[in-house]
Amino acid sequence: MTTEVTSAPFDVGDDGSFVDGLVIFDGATLSVRAGDARADWHLADLDEIAVENHVVGGSLVVKSGVEHELLARFTARHAAPMGYLARLASHTIERSRDPESDAPAPSRPPDEEKSCPICGRPYPSPERPVCNFCLDKRSVFIRVLSFLNDQRRTVFVVLSLMIVAALFKLAPPFLGGRILFDETLVPGGRFYGRVGLIVLLMVASQAASIGASIVYGRLNTMVAVGVVFSLKRKIFEAMQRLSMSFFSKKQTGGLLTRVNYDTTFLQYFFHDGIPYLVVNGVQIIAIGIVMFLLDWRLSLLVLIPTPVMVYITSRLFPRIRQLYSRQYRRQSILTGLVNDVFTGTRVVKAFGNESQEISRFEPRNDGVYRAVVDTGTLQSVLFPSLFALMSVGTVLIWAVGGYWILAGSISFGTLMSFLGYLGLIYGPLQFMTAVVDWWSSSMNSAQRIFEVLDAVPEVRERADPVRIPSMRGDIEFRNVRFAYEVNNPVIHGISLGIMEGEMIGLVGRTGAGKSTITNLMTRLYDADEGEILIDGIPIKDLSVSDLRSQIAIVLQETYLFAGSVAENIAYGRDDASREEIVQAARAAFAHDFITSLPEGYDTVIGREGHDLSGGERQRIAIARAVLRDPRILILDEATASMDSETEQNIQAALERLIEGRTVIAIAHRLSTLRKANRLFVIEHGRIAESGTHDELMAIDEGVYRGLVEKQREALEVIGVGE
Ligand code: ATP
Ligand code: MG
Repeated sequence: MTTEVTSAPFDVGDDGSFVDGLVIFDGATLSVRAGDARADWHLADLDEIAVENHVVGGSLVVKSGVEHELLARFTARHAAPMGYLARLASHTIERSRDPESDAPAPSRPPDEEKSCPICGRPYPSPERPVCNFCLDKRSVFIRVLSFLNDQRRTVFVVLSLMIVAALFKLAPPFLGGRILFDETLVPGGRFYGRVGLIVLLMVASQAASIGASIVYGRLNTMVAVGVVFSLKRKIFEAMQRLSMSFFSKKQTGGLLTRVNYDTTFLQYFFHDGIPYLVVNGVQIIAIGIVMFLLDWRLSLLVLIPTPVMVYITSRLFPRIRQLYSRQYRRQSILTGLVNDVFTGTRVVKAFGNESQEISRFEPRNDGVYRAVVDTGTLQSVLFPSLFALMSVGTVLIWAVGGYWILAGSISFGTLMSFLGYLGLIYGPLQFMTAVVDWWSSSMNSAQRIFEVLDAVPEVRERADPVRIPSMRGDIEFRNVRFAYEVNNPVIHGISLGIMEGEMIGLVGRTGAGKSTITNLMTRLYDADEGEILIDGIPIKDLSVSDLRSQIAIVLQETYLFAGSVAENIAYGRDDASREEIVQAARAAFAHDFITSLPEGYDTVIGREGHDLSGGERQRIAIARAVLRDPRILILDEATASMDSETEQNIQAALERLIEGRTVIAIAHRLSTLRKANRLFVIEHGRIAESGTHDELMAIDEGVYRGLVEKQREALEVIGVGE
C-alpha cells in the first residue's frame, strides 16, 4: 500500500462560482476541503476514482457500485495534479484488491508553474507562461537592441549622423531670430546689412541637416531590414527545432500572425522607432538647453500646461494600450480563420460551404473593425487635445513676450528665436508621447518572438546521445502510456517486442492508437510513462538524427513540397545522385509515370506545379523510403489510395522494400497484411490480441476474427470479394 500523501487544488464551486478548495489523498482517505466544509471518503468503500474532462477543466468523480458522486470541479490549470491524484488513488484500490498485480504506479506530473511567481496572478493562457503585468519591458528592450550587435559599426555611424543632423537643425531659429533681427537689421549690429550672408548660413545649416538625415536614413533602412531578416531566419530555425506538441497546441494561424505581424512590427520599430527616438531625444534636450539659455523665464512659461498634459496622458494611455492589445487579439483570430479557409478551400468549395464561411468571417471581421474604430476614436480625441494644450504655451509666450518687448526687457530677435525653437520642439515632443505606447506594444511583439526563440522542445536530445549509425532494428515497448492532452490517455500501457527483420501488422478500429504508437517510436512525441527501446537502448538516450535517419515512414497522405519530383524523392537525402533517385523510383514503380510528366524528373510539383494523383504521390513516398534505405520501415495505410493494378505493383515494390528490414505495417484492408509475421490488435490504446493471422482467426469471438468477417461481408456487399 502506498503511503504517499498527495493533494490537488480545485477552484469551481457547486454553483460554478470560484472556490479555494483542496483534495487530499493519504493512501486510505480522500478528503475534500473547501473553506470550513470538509468531506471524507474511505477508499475501501469506493470502486473507482476518475477525472472526467469537460470542455474547460473537469471534475473528480468517485464510483461505488452504480453510485456516482462528484467530489470537485476545477479549471484546466488544476487538471494535471488532479489527474495524478485520481490515478494514484485508483492504483491503490487496484493493489488492495489484487496484491499480486504488477501494474506500475503512476508517475507524478512535473510541477509546472501555472501562475506568475512575482505577482501570483495566473498566466493569461496556460501555454504562455508570461505575465503581462510583470513583463520586464526594459530587459526585453535590451535584448532587442542586442540584435544590432552584428552591425555595430553602421549603427555607430547612424547615431553620429543623427546627432549632427539634430545639431544643425538648431542653427536656423537662432540665425533667423536673434542674429537677423537684433544684429543684422539694426544699425550698429555686428552683421548690420549682411542679410545675404545670414540667409546663406541658414540655408547651409538646413542643407547640412537634411544631407545628414538622407545618409543616415539610407544606412538605417539597411540596419532595420538586416535585423528583421536575421530575426525571421532565427524564428524559422526555432520552429524547425520545436516538437510536434508545440504546433498542435498553438493555432497555426496564431503562429503565422506571430511571425509576420510581430516581425513587421519590430521592423517598423527598428526603422522608425529607435532612430527617431534618438534624434528626437537629442533635439528635445538640445532645444531645451538653448531655450533656457535664451530666456529662462519664457522657458518656464512654456511648461505651464505640462502637468495637465501629463495627467491626461497617464489616464488615457493605459486605455489605448488595452485597445491595441484587443485589436491584436482579434486580428490574430481573423488571420487564423482566413488561413483555415485558404488551406481548406477544396473542402469549402466541395461542400458548397462558401456562405457559411462568409458568415463565420463576418462577425470576426466586424470585431476587428470595431476594435480599430475604437482605438482610432480615442486617439483622434486625445492627440488634438494634447496639441491644443501645447499651443496654450505658445499663446502665453506671444502675450507675455510682447509685453516684455514693449517694456524693453527682451529683444525682438530673442522672442523670434524663442518662438522658432518652440515650433521645433513640439514635433519631437509629440513623437515622444506617441512612442511610449509604440514602445510598449513593440516590446510585447518582441516578447512573443522571444517565446518562440526560447521555447524548449519537449522532445529533447540528451547532452551526450548514444550514436547508433547502423541499428539492427529490434524494438521493445515497456508499459508505455501516452496522452496528447492531459487526463485523456490514448495509449494505456502497451508492452510489445519486435525482432530485427520481423514484419508486424497493427490492426484495430479507427482511433485505436495505431498511428500514435508509430509517432512514439520516432519520437514525434515522447511517452509519458514507460520506455521504448531500440536495439536495447532507450530511444530517449539515442541521437535523434540517428534514430530518424534509420526509420522511414510511408503515410497514406503524402506531403509533397514545392519542388521538382527528383527533389521530392531525395527529401532528407540531399546527397543522392540522379542515378540513385531513378533507381529508387524504378523500385517504387514510379519511373514510368515520372518520365511521362512534361519535364520528367525535373517537373515541379506541389503548390503551383503539376498536381499528382493519390497513387502517384504514394509511389513518390515509397521511392523516398527506398532511397533512405531505412532499418525500420513504417507503413501507415501505405496502399490505401491505389487501384488494384497499381496496388499489385506497389505490393511488389513494398515486398522488395521490406526485405531484410523491421517493418510495422498499419492497414485497414486486412488482406494486405497477409505477409506479416505477427499481428497486434489494438483496442482503445491497449493490445487486445496478438499472434499470427491463423492464431488470431482461431480465437472464438476474437476481435481480429470479428474485424476480418465484417470486412469480408462489406466487400461482398459491394461485389468485390476477395
Ligand atoms: P486510424 O486508423 O483512423 O488512423 P489510429 O489508430 O491511427 O486511427 P491515432 O491516430 O493513433 O488512431 O489516434 C488515437 C487517438 O488519439 C484518437 O482518439 C485521436 O483523436 C487522438 N489524437 C490523435 N492525434 C492527436 C493530436 N495531435 N492531439 C490530440 N489527440 C490526438
Ligand atoms: Mg492512423
